[in-house]
Formats: sequence, C-alpha cells, structure tokens
Amino acid sequence: MSALRSVAVFCGSTPGTDPVYVETARRAGATLADRGIDVVYGGGSAGMMGALADGALAAGGHVTGVIPRSLVDRELAHHGVDLVVVESMHERKQRMSERADAFIALPGGAGTLEEITEQWTWAQLGLHDKPCGLLDVDGFWRPFVDQLRRMTADGFVRSSQEGIVSVEEDLDVLLERLADPPDWTDKWGAPRPGR
Ligand code: AMP
Repeated sequence: MSALRSVAVFCGSTPGTDPVYVETARRAGATLADRGIDVVYGGGSAGMMGALADGALAAGGHVTGVIPRSLVDRELAHHGVDLVVVESMHERKQRMSERADAFIALPGGAGTLEEITEQWTWAQLGLHDKPCGLLDVDGFWRPFVDQLRRMTADGFVRSSQEGIVSVEEDLDVLLERLADPPDWTDKWGAPRPGR
C-alpha cells in the first residue's frame, strides 16, 4: 500500500444535465482535500471541472490546473488554482500524468474518456505503473465496464491487466483501492517503472 499524494481527476467541462454530476465533482474535490491528496486537473473553472477545483479549494486543498494556452479563454481557466499553462494537449496530458500517483474519471464527455483511456493504455504498456479509477455515478460508467469486459472476453485486453482499472460508486472506497491496486505489472513481465 502506498499513500496517494496526488490524484489527477478527469471530468466533464460541462455540468451535465443532472445536478448530481456537479455535486459529485464538488464533493470529490473536498474528499481529496480532506485526505491531504493534491488535485491535478485540466484547469477550467466551468462545469464539473470548476466544481471539482472549488470543492477542493474550499476544503483547504492544493489544486494544480494544467491547461493549454489555446484553451485558457475557451475553458475559462481557473485563476484560484496553481495554474500551469502548457503549449499543447499532449503536453497537458504528459504533465498531468507525471504529477499524479493515480487517475480518476468522473462522468464526462469525449475529453474525459480520451484522457482516462490514454492513462490506462500507458499503464498497459508499462510507461507508468499508476492505477486508474472510474467513479460510477448513477451507473454512468456501466456501459464502459461492459465494453471492457467484452474486450477482455474477446482477447483484446489481458485479464491479468484488468486490475489497472477499478470501478467504484464510493470515492473513499475507490481511493483505498487505488492506494493498493492489484500488481498487474509483475504478471506480464514488463519492467516495473519506479514511481
Ligand atoms: P469533456 O469530457 O469532453 O468535457 O472534456 C473534459 C476535458 O478534456 C476538457 O478540459 C477538454 O479540454 C479535455 N480534452 C478534450 N479532448 C482532449 C484530448 N484529446 N486530450 C486531452 N484533453 C482533452
């Protein structure tokens, strides 16, 4: 078990249609702050992203927002966080990945999906050994979990690597899981990168 010092959170840049999404993001920020875990996110002040940052800040947490220069205006960069302005989407994801001990996706759109699946693939390739978690709000991630099962059943995802992605409805349970994930790297012989 290793203590999580920093978690990257991916979530919608919009609020979604149900108030439960923004409330979940705000509570997630507060929970991470209460646990002394630094939040790394995409740096926006709107939608779920903004609620996440505001929730963490209100609870006294430390929040780093990594945002491409081209999105500073479009995504309404949050000037209350420790803002890191980068030059590209690729650099954003690289920096977020480097700064985090684990990754969590809350509900979101294509950007959220892309960001969490990229970290999942980097773990599969042994580029890092950091686990991914999906916070399942109102069954939001169930279709994705079904797809994951199908990929595994049909031989496209190694069953020994299923432990890279954890799915939980409760953030505290998810964080415990991410702090002590199944050791997938030893099972497929990839060199285990140092944290
Ligand atoms: P969305 O889930 O689509 O609302 O997007 C959430 C966040 O993901 C936003 O900050 C987007 O800028 C970001 N995003 C969208 N597409 C990408 C991408 N290809 N790589 C990295 N981040 C992205």
